[in-house]
Amino acid sequence: MPFARSWLGLVAASIVGLAASPAWGQDSDETALEDQWVIGNLVFLAYHEVGHLLLDQMAQADQRNNRLLAEQSADDIATWLISPEPGEEIESSEAVAAIGGWLEMAEAGNDASVAHLPDVEIYPDAVTRASRIACLLLGSDDSEPNAFAPLEMVAALRFAVADCRETYLALDESMVELFGDSEDIGDNPVARVRVQHDPVGPALVDARAFLIESRVLQDLRDDLVEYIGLPVNVVLRGAACGRDSPGFIYNSSRQEIVACYEEVDWYLFGEPEDGATGAEQDPAAIDGLGARPRRIPPRQPPSPPNPRRQ
Ligand SMILES: [Zn+2]
Repeated sequence: MPFARSWLGLVAASIVGLAASPAWGQDSDETALEDQWVIGNLVFLAYHEVGHLLLDQMAQADQRNNRLLAEQSADDIATWLISPEPGEEIESSEAVAAIGGWLEMAEAGNDASVAHLPDVEIYPDAVTRASRIACLLLGSDDSEPNAFAPLEMVAALRFAVADCRETYLALDESMVELFGDSEDIGDNPVARVRVQHDPVGPALVDARAFLIESRVLQDLRDDLVEYIGLPVNVVLRGAACGRDSPGFIYNSSRQEIVACYEEVDWYLFGEPEDGATGAEQDPAAIDGLGARPRRIPPRQPPSPPNPRRQ
């Protein structure tokens, strides 16, 4: 599954091309690129949970009755909300980063351990999720040539590219219905949104710092208040969720979106070493709507050769 890497490569090429300034050294290019990729993925996950929040608080949808549909809808809402506007730079967009993230997730889970994910059936598989985002982005542009044309190969992994425009228009219609006419809400905010970052032990302290510095939750708060303009009530909370956390979580009864530090850590540093992250379990994780199947278990170290004795 080379697509994740090649997307990263494409993004890298475009950024390096833009960054002709001598102030940008080789290393800072790469770091900035990686940070941007991580942030893009975190933003997608946060908006996925916003999808669950809107379905819950605005549409009063019963998301537990059909989790697969709820998960797909949450992805669709996220894609719609963060898809680049016409003329916006596409390569560095959060939605495109998320495509790479899901493909990378598919790659990481592409071994026997994925079969043991307890709730894998309630989510679309990671390749389908990447492919659907690509299809929706393709469908969002009706100009010639399509601004998202390089995403065609990813969209075609699971969807008929010719139908993507129709798929997008159907989503667009239902989103306009959900949001109504939400212009001119900046002066009269109706959303009640609070941000907090819980303290955490040393294993996840870098992840917490990254989440704070990247302002993912703070910017999400501002978006919800200034642009979405719906009377949602939610706490955006960074927290340790435990090793088998489902990424980010929306918990309806607690009216919380939890950004799990473990997930931030995964995007920053990859699969943790055995015992590297704490076993804390956040209460919101227990009955919340997560962003993906619970944690891909760390790979077992290969068993030592066992030469047959005579
Ligand atoms: Zn979800």
